[in-house]
Amino acid sequence: VSLNQNNLVRLSPEIARPEYQRTEGRAGIMHVGVGGFHRSHEAYYTDALMQIQETPEWGICGVGLREADRQMAAVLEKQDSLYTLITKHPAGDIENRVIGSLTGFMMGCDDPAAVIERMANPDIRIVSLTITEGGYNVDTETGDFDFSNPDAQHDLQNPTTPRLVFGYLTAALRLRRANGIPAFTVQSCDNIQHNGNLTRKMVLGFARRQDPELADWIENEVCFPNAMVDRITPVTTAEDIRYLDEKMGLLDEWPVTCEPFCQWVIEDRFSDGRPEWELVGAQFVPDVTPYETMKLRLLNAGHSVLGILGAIYGFGTIDEAVSDKLFAKFLRRFMDLEATPTLDAVEGIDLDAYKNTLIERFGNPNIKDSLARICLESSSKLPVFLLPTIQANLDRGGSVKYAALVIAAWCFYSDKGVDQHGRELEIVDELKQALHDAAKRTHDDPLSFLKLKSVFGDLAMNERFANTYADLVAQLSNDVDVSALMSEIIESDT
Ligand code: NAD
Repeated sequence: VSLNQNNLVRLSPEIARPEYQRTEGRAGIMHVGVGGFHRSHEAYYTDALMQIQETPEWGICGVGLREADRQMAAVLEKQDSLYTLITKHPAGDIENRVIGSLTGFMMGCDDPAAVIERMANPDIRIVSLTITEGGYNVDTETGDFDFSNPDAQHDLQNPTTPRLVFGYLTAALRLRRANGIPAFTVQSCDNIQHNGNLTRKMVLGFARRQDPELADWIENEVCFPNAMVDRITPVTTAEDIRYLDEKMGLLDEWPVTCEPFCQWVIEDRFSDGRPEWELVGAQFVPDVTPYETMKLRLLNAGHSVLGILGAIYGFGTIDEAVSDKLFAKFLRRFMDLEATPTLDAVEGIDLDAYKNTLIERFGNPNIKDSLARICLESSSKLPVFLLPTIQANLDRGGSVKYAALVIAAWCFYSDKGVDQHGRELEIVDELKQALHDAAKRTHDDPLSFLKLKSVFGDLAMNERFANTYADLVAQLSNDVDVSALMSEIIESDT
């Protein structure tokens, strides 16, 4: 059967579906950027809430601002805003659930005035975003709003027909203020540290240039809660669509797949109320910082540890790497001995359980995450994921050898461009050439790679780290197998 509201009663009993009254068109949230992640995360939480609490006022109206959203608009329209969430468990079992929390979709580029008007409707109390890291229009040199973007210039000149999300938010907030309607909350769900603060900075940067008085009002009235979001959501494939059709008898033109793990930690600051997402697993906290640090230093750093060591060893995917006992043990030791001691206590989180879950998530054979993707742009990742852990351990006299091996392996990776068996690696990094040049000079100066200041700062000046690193990098360049070095490091602790 084709997926739509009338056919819900005809679905295979194996497929869970909305058991609540779906009110077409009713929404309290407008969401910009209805891609895979919004549909596996915020819309999933909201659907779960609607399932246990009658809250039609929190339906979600999707918004697409770009031509690229047209296909999503068409599919959702055809399917009465319904889609299937396919959750793939590590052991291979699959859960299917039709999600009903989306109640409509609007294309901004077709009728910007209609979207602005809807955002200004008092029913709308939250505008949430997943517009990707690039959507925040940050000037990379100054960190401020990038007015050199022609779309930003267009929006300044044409306040009622904007192109960027900042133009829409500003126009809608102007209308609310004029009509005496309270401000909505702007809630970023993108994977950015302190995503709410960044959104606030960009909205205010734009609004101030256009209308300083309105900017003052926004500054006082609009909440921009920071949030940490987590759920691996790969791009939907033709195979996912075929699976639903052939195995479940369901024709869904654009389902979403994801892992079972799901996390949403949100700062509890909202301008005009919010859904009780805490009833379905979200966590409201006063400050997300410790949760973000935990994620960066365990999940993201863990990915890099497996990614770089695994890449030169010759593995292709994360699950392949972590199902190797030595790699799993090395990762766990890194997390326990080097990362965890640098973390503050994180309220509501059992760190041991979190680490166990991470290893299980990394091992999910149904979520094929390639090491090439994990190692992509390492020069911007490692300074955020790994170097603060090294620095903290140097300050506190803690262990640094696990992390040092990762950096030494990264030098090998950047120098050779092949794994230890001579197979070519796919390396994508803005600093690829500089990394390669620095790594190449290791023969003359063992610390040359580490002296790349734009990546490592002053790390090469720390004698303890420099010695540990120099020893490991020399062994790797003498063709000592990376797994032998990993075993040695583990043994030296026991
Ligand atoms: P996606 O490609 O499926 O969807 C991206 C959406 O953003 C699309 O609707 C697109 O039109 C919109 N968009 C892109 N640039 C925009 C812009 N400049 N202005 C307005 N809209 C814009 O990607 P996704 O998997 O849904 O990921 C989106 C974001 O979610 C990521 O960038 C990340 O910050 C966050 N996230 C993703 C995952 C994941 O595993 N996929 C996990 C955690 C967080």
